[in-house]
Amino acid sequence: MRLSRYFLPVLKETPADAQIASHRYMLRAGMIRQQAAGIYSWLPLGFKVLKRIEQIVHEEQQRAGHIPMLMPTIQPADLWRESGRYDAYGPEMLRIRDRHDRDMLFGPTNEEMITDIFRAHVASYKSLPLTLYHIQWKFRDEIRPRFGVMRGREFYMKDGYNFDLTKEDALHAYNRHMVSYLRTYERMGLTAIPMRADSGPIGGDDTHEFLVLAPTGESDVFYDAGVTELKLGDREIDYDDRAQVKGVCDEFTSLYARTDETHDEALYGEVPEDRRRHGKGIEVGQIFYFGTKYSEPMGANVQGPDGAKVPVHMGSHGIGVSRLVGAIIEASHDDNGIIWPEGVTPFHVGIVNMRVGDEACDATSTALYGTLKTLGLDPLLDDTDERAGAKFATMDLIGLPWRITVGPRGLKNGVVELTSRRTGESEELSPEAAVQKLAALYEGHL
Ligand code: ATP
Ligand code: MG
Repeated sequence: MRLSRYFLPVLKETPADAQIASHRYMLRAGMIRQQAAGIYSWLPLGFKVLKRIEQIVHEEQQRAGHIPMLMPTIQPADLWRESGRYDAYGPEMLRIRDRHDRDMLFGPTNEEMITDIFRAHVASYKSLPLTLYHIQWKFRDEIRPRFGVMRGREFYMKDGYNFDLTKEDALHAYNRHMVSYLRTYERMGLTAIPMRADSGPIGGDDTHEFLVLAPTGESDVFYDAGVTELKLGDREIDYDDRAQVKGVCDEFTSLYARTDETHDEALYGEVPEDRRRHGKGIEVGQIFYFGTKYSEPMGANVQGPDGAKVPVHMGSHGIGVSRLVGAIIEASHDDNGIIWPEGVTPFHVGIVNMRVGDEACDATSTALYGTLKTLGLDPLLDDTDERAGAKFATMDLIGLPWRITVGPRGLKNGVVELTSRRTGESEELSPEAAVQKLAALYEGHL
């Protein structure tokens, strides 16, 4: 993209009502615009990051064998009356009446709807196991929407639902979700720690939340410092191999890590004192096993191997896709702006043409831009006639991990400058070498 043709409405002033870095930088970098409390438009730059995150979520869900689909945002109230949650959900549910006086609602989650789909189409255990998911806008009329997209009222969420014949099968689905989530967050450059949590209004026995440690998080967390060292890395996972998948879950959940809801002082006291940590975390996902809580009242039964009809065992598993945009910024920024991890950056590299109108600068910038695109990279070329200082400030603010600076002085020696946003370190390279280095850096991220 050429910046002169893009829509990047950056703000010079720091918005007064934004209390945390991610909210401030998302507004200043022209990523979002608030339309009402907790409701945002995603401007082009923010939209790009949202889509990159969504894409990673899709890839990792499908790698784990889960099937994408799409359910509507508006749901009939009757489904929720069947499960008993229409009254239980309370004022967080946005209730709507249509012109025929039918009660509708803007979905805060989809357990009822997916159970309805399942019972309409699946009758035999032979169709199991089955895990369906979608990525769709949700609405929860939060009492205190704040921190920008971190606690919105309208937000984008991946929610997946497993259907299994037995509890044992459903727990394998739970474990599959845990491992696929670990990989998802790692690809986004995040450390998200699975912590034993409380099941709340969704109900159930087994549940973990995934938390990104950050001082601005809203959850109180207690953990063994050892959990922050664990990495999945690029090890091969066979999602059908129950023992392997469970082994990974055991590895990531055996050290103490809990939110305040399930915190246990006695168990925490067994952690060696120098490894005990108490801090704040941002919840970026949660997995649940809840058995037959919905299948029983809603009649989602299958015929088992012995011919008898039994309610299916279910779980639901969510990732806060739009919240992740904020969480990543909370985990990765400095005083000058955002620092995107390579996996989610809106553009892979910014090219700053220091002297637009200079023949050599224009030619080299354009050539770099073209070559990077041919290699499948997504560059942002600053071809505007702003002064250099302002161009650098914008690049730092929007946080692209790499910048190539093309200036007349360097070009006399046949070099451009490649700068890392994270370390601030620069090196002079021929344009060809800069391209090669970027291609290598992004291998595995394209
Ligand atoms: P919280 O405790 O933060 O209110 P929750 O536990 O109610 O969240 P879940 O039902 O577990 O949320 O939803 C799955 C994921 O959706 C959460 O882990 C979180 O990342 C995201 N999420 C939930 N509520 C919001 C919101 N109001 N704005 C943005 N993301 C949200
Ligand atoms: Mg939750």
